[in-house]
Amino acid sequence: MTDRDVSLSHAIREVLFDQATIATRVAEIASAIAYDYRKRRPLVVGILNGCFPLIADLVRSIDIPLEVDFMAVSSYGSGTSSSGVVRILKDLNQAIDGRDVLLVEDIVDTGLTLRYLLDNLNTRRPASIEVCTLLDKQEARTERLEVRYVGFRCPNEFVVGYGLDYAGLYRNLPYIGVLRPEVYQKS
Ligand code: 5GP
Repeated sequence: MTDRDVSLSHAIREVLFDQATIATRVAEIASAIAYDYRKRRPLVVGILNGCFPLIADLVRSIDIPLEVDFMAVSSYGSGTSSSGVVRILKDLNQAIDGRDVLLVEDIVDTGLTLRYLLDNLNTRRPASIEVCTLLDKQEARTERLEVRYVGFRCPNEFVVGYGLDYAGLYRNLPYIGVLRPEVYQKS
């Protein structure tokens, strides 16, 4: 096996958002969040697993006091289409009544996951809930949702990298891209 065969980027057909473009946009969103929450102490909630690079980069650029917590929800399993069934695999470590909650998602596609999360968290009486997503696939949306902070509009294609996986792989790519079709056919 050659180095080229095992390199992750070999599986990518097209880079949609490169590392520098992502870094610039994340810093812009962080500034907007810091300004909007300057008189509050938000609880930034990352939705695992895909949020981990985004939330790490984002919170380090938000220059106000904040807290961080995580939830994990089931998403597509190993396929590439939404099942619509959402399960909480890991809940928050703390109560959120009276808190200003900012959910951090990797991507909003149909919106089913976010709809479920917002309905669930709203029953816990937070002072506010807003959503930040790196990618917004508006064309695929079936739910009516308000997403306050959006990194990029994303074409209706299955993307990987910067936290997003295919069958558990490619989360560690530093950019976001589209897989070559052969990669799906092999698995
Ligand atoms: P939704 O419930 O909005 O349809 O999908 C939300 C979840 O599906 C995301 O958090 C993500 O885990 C997964 N997802 C949706 N679109 C994509 C995509 O293009 N690539 C990857 N890797 N995951 C996706």
